[in-house]
Amino acid sequence: MDKKIFRDISYGVYIVTTKDSEKKNVGCVINTLTQVTSADPIIAISLNKENYTNSALKWNRKFAISLVSVDTPKEVIGTFGYHSSKDIDKFENVDYEMIEDLPIVKENTCGYIIAEYIDSVECNTHDVIIAKVLSTKKECDNEPMTYKYYHEKLKGTSPKNAPTYEEPPKEETNTASSKYRCKLCGYIYDDAKEKVKFEDLPDDWKCPLCGAPKSQFEKIN
Ligand code: FE
Repeated sequence: MDKKIFRDISYGVYIVTTKDSEKKNVGCVINTLTQVTSADPIIAISLNKENYTNSALKWNRKFAISLVSVDTPKEVIGTFGYHSSKDIDKFENVDYEMIEDLPIVKENTCGYIIAEYIDSVECNTHDVIIAKVLSTKKECDNEPMTYKYYHEKLKGTSPKNAPTYEEPPKEETNTASSKYRCKLCGYIYDDAKEKVKFEDLPDDWKCPLCGAPKSQFEKIN
């Protein structure tokens, strides 16, 4: 099977948000969302079974999707994509607004969809969740972020719980330059492409994608 063909499928970048049973705002990044019907719109999303947001969504039944744009700061994607809502308050440093008792991310997002859980189908590691759209709002004409843009422009990677996850390639040994990989999100810092060598970065430097400390990076060549 040549999994590269899957890279030719279009995906977006979305933040699905809801509340857990303790009324805490929770959410995570997804890349798989599709509109299933037009009349009385229905959507489907794919969510890892182990994501905290998955169980919260099924409990609350109502959830929101914020559509990420190319102008959404990548730190916001890092916060929602590479951490668990079980461990941190993802909304602490994020601009959001409560609408219909759901947290809507406002960081240059294109708009939002509010939906109600109908059913889900188990698919190996993921659940495909089917939901009825209750309301929508388009808030700006910013260009929606595609997954291709996220990979190619932001050098983002698919976390292990994404439906599109792939094992990172083994790096060839190359003594001319050093590369370091973030163990949390997979971001690669390449000395050859940066002005400052990784070892010379200050101790409080953080991963530009997920915010992990410098100590979370491993040398890969
Ligand atoms: Fe990272």
